[in-house]
Amino acid sequence: MFPTTRLRRLRRTGLLRGLVRETELSVDHLIYPMFVVAGSERRTPIPTMPGIDHLSIDGAVEEAGEAAALGIPGVLLFGLPAHKDEQGSGAWDDEGVIQLATRAIKAAHPDLLVITDLCLCEYTSHGHCGLLRGDGSVDNDASLELLARTAVSHAEAGADTVCPSDMMDGRVGAIRAALDDAGFAQIPIVSYAAKYASAFYGPFREAAESTPAFGDRRGYQLDPANVREAMRECELDVREGADALIVKPALPYLDVLRAVRERFELPVGAYNVSGEYAMLKAAAQSGWLDERQAALESLTAIKRAGADFIVSYWTKELAEWL
Ligand SMILES: [Zn+2]
Repeated sequence: MFPTTRLRRLRRTGLLRGLVRETELSVDHLIYPMFVVAGSERRTPIPTMPGIDHLSIDGAVEEAGEAAALGIPGVLLFGLPAHKDEQGSGAWDDEGVIQLATRAIKAAHPDLLVITDLCLCEYTSHGHCGLLRGDGSVDNDASLELLARTAVSHAEAGADTVCPSDMMDGRVGAIRAALDDAGFAQIPIVSYAAKYASAFYGPFREAAESTPAFGDRRGYQLDPANVREAMRECELDVREGADALIVKPALPYLDVLRAVRERFELPVGAYNVSGEYAMLKAAAQSGWLDERQAALESLTAIKRAGADFIVSYWTKELAEWL
């Protein structure tokens, strides 16, 4: 009790604070997301996400090289195809944007992890994450085969890991079976197990051109009000063979992240999404807060809540700051 106990004693200097710091950010646990487009323009800035560009395949190879040089362990690829159709066939096209980018990046930077986002929404003309029925609803079971086919094509292109983000029931099991059948038993599935129907994806949808043409994704993504349901999603993904779990978004869902951390033994990741990034960028541009401090604080909070690894648009800047 005071005055014997004074907690300020260990906060007196930077060295003392460092000695007792409980959470440490490290570039080893960061993944850098990139948006690869089918076009030839090497880099086009994404207005809603300052500092992040649309990259051609050449541009993506160059950007991946910069990430590798900074010691970043891996990149997460999103693809923007030249053409979209009802089924999203560009997702599993052997000559698709992700497949070509994966081959090119692995050829140039074999030691960098290439992790692929696995969904149909960037490839479907309607922008939903699965195949549509006549009435406009998403056909869960029919979508599984297409997702599995996409996973195999990513693995054939050389992806180190696939990350299914569609939130269809049963997709982890379907993808695991397809990968194993195709001889890719060694490829892990990092599942977006707890992916919420969130307003914080707004800037990403501009970037990925994946806004649904009608309706929304609340029929398959988690309701922001639910945490027990997120535990059930994780439980099912674990049983179906997921190797790691992701909670997305991160900052508005730190309680979910903590709950997943406490309940499961698997590695847990968090996706520090575009809206979380854009908010701080915009506030910093207005001079309302210090971006570096706020970003470091945000990412430390995500780590403290239980994330083993973080997907963040700040990854490159952070690698320089740390
Ligand atoms: Zn999707």
